[in-house]
Amino acid sequence: MNKSSQGRRLWNEKIETMSEEELRALQWKRLKRQLRYDYDHSITYHEKFKEVGLTPREIRSFADFQKLPLTTKDEHRRAQQKSIERFGHPYGLITCAPIEKIVRISSTSGTTGVPTLYTLTTHDVKVLNEMHCRKYWRAGLRPGHIVLQALSLSMFTGGLPLSDGIQAMGLCCVPVGIESGTKRVIDFIELTKPQVLIATPSFGEYLIEKAPSLLGKEAKDLGVRWFFCAGEPGGGIPSVRKRLHEGFNARVFDHTGGGHAFHGICCGDEEYRGMHFISPDHCILELIDPETKKPVEMVEGAIGEMVFTFIGWEGGPFLRYVLGDMLQIFTKPCECGFPGIRFKIMGRGDDMLIVKGVNIYPAAIKDVISHFHPRTTGALKILLDRPGPLVKPPLRLKVEYGEGVKEVERETLKEELRKYIREDLRVNPEIELVPPDSIPRETGSTGKLKLIEVVKGVR
Ligand SMILES: [Zn+2]
Repeated sequence: MNKSSQGRRLWNEKIETMSEEELRALQWKRLKRQLRYDYDHSITYHEKFKEVGLTPREIRSFADFQKLPLTTKDEHRRAQQKSIERFGHPYGLITCAPIEKIVRISSTSGTTGVPTLYTLTTHDVKVLNEMHCRKYWRAGLRPGHIVLQALSLSMFTGGLPLSDGIQAMGLCCVPVGIESGTKRVIDFIELTKPQVLIATPSFGEYLIEKAPSLLGKEAKDLGVRWFFCAGEPGGGIPSVRKRLHEGFNARVFDHTGGGHAFHGICCGDEEYRGMHFISPDHCILELIDPETKKPVEMVEGAIGEMVFTFIGWEGGPFLRYVLGDMLQIFTKPCECGFPGIRFKIMGRGDDMLIVKGVNIYPAAIKDVISHFHPRTTGALKILLDRPGPLVKPPLRLKVEYGEGVKEVERETLKEELRKYIREDLRVNPEIELVPPDSIPRETGSTGKLKLIEVVKGVR
């Protein structure tokens, strides 16, 4: 790669700087082709068209397209199961490509129950890698940078598939993987000297806390200049971003590659303005009302449940797929100068809690607790007596007070936390303060820190 091409700001200037009209035309062309393909190659999707009495040819507008039924994760799992019963393998109903063209299977991580499988062909792997390149290029990474990947590697979409994308950009990938244990990750940071760390924000916070005792130096002296958050919402939480930024002296990025086609990365400025949607040529994004499931207009500030449709995909393209994630979108140009609409993930559908009719996301509670740092360590657990979303009030929180917070100060801290949560989140929590380091930081094999703990007999 020569010097001038390294200096460009975008990986794929042709696509990434398309005008809105050009992009819309490209999306529509690819969508039409994709719908025909899905209809012809997947029994599940074929039935969806039949359900509303439409054929791909009869879909002449975006409004027509929105008449197609949504696909849920449960439906996806059921289709896999039915396929096993019918064909002896899970790829017969929802998957479009024939088995011999599928070169990779990956899955979501850490979720309970039957995993949903993502099936990719050689073409899809190329598209996925291109999206990873777009994200890291925007963040300022260039060939020669060393990237240490400390997420869960196995199966997870942010695991080995991500390693492949990192290499596709010409970066040097050190895929250590959190499964190998915190100690090994830290040893490899010392040994390989990465400038870039990809990890969960909670692992980053853990490193900041522990670096002095484990390594005899501050996290900011490790030479990490980019911290990419993944797997947890912390990359979009201002107080967490600030701690990571100061703790590592690094630029902090929030990024996502949901379902393989929906990719975004934030600007990397101190102020968080959401993530830029960087894959509109391979993913159609819609918002719907979470109650009525009716489309929500994609205007500045709109909030709704995310629906995505893959375009220009072969293996297991999603068709109007809902994961339950709530997004807010921003269509006005961003101050950073990068093109494209932006989105903030308000909460993951699986995580949402309902307390006395108020919807609340663990990430929002985490934000409040981290906001009180250093009077709190930022660590907390939400204790439930049964899995959510419905919570029998009061909402119970276990929160670590910070190092050196005296007993007399704790009552005031508790009261302030309670007041802040009541005013900010409209729920009245019951808070138990516990000493620093008493809530486990190890994130287990999935690499994600669980904020929610279901405790039998909690009350
Ligand atoms: Zn921006």
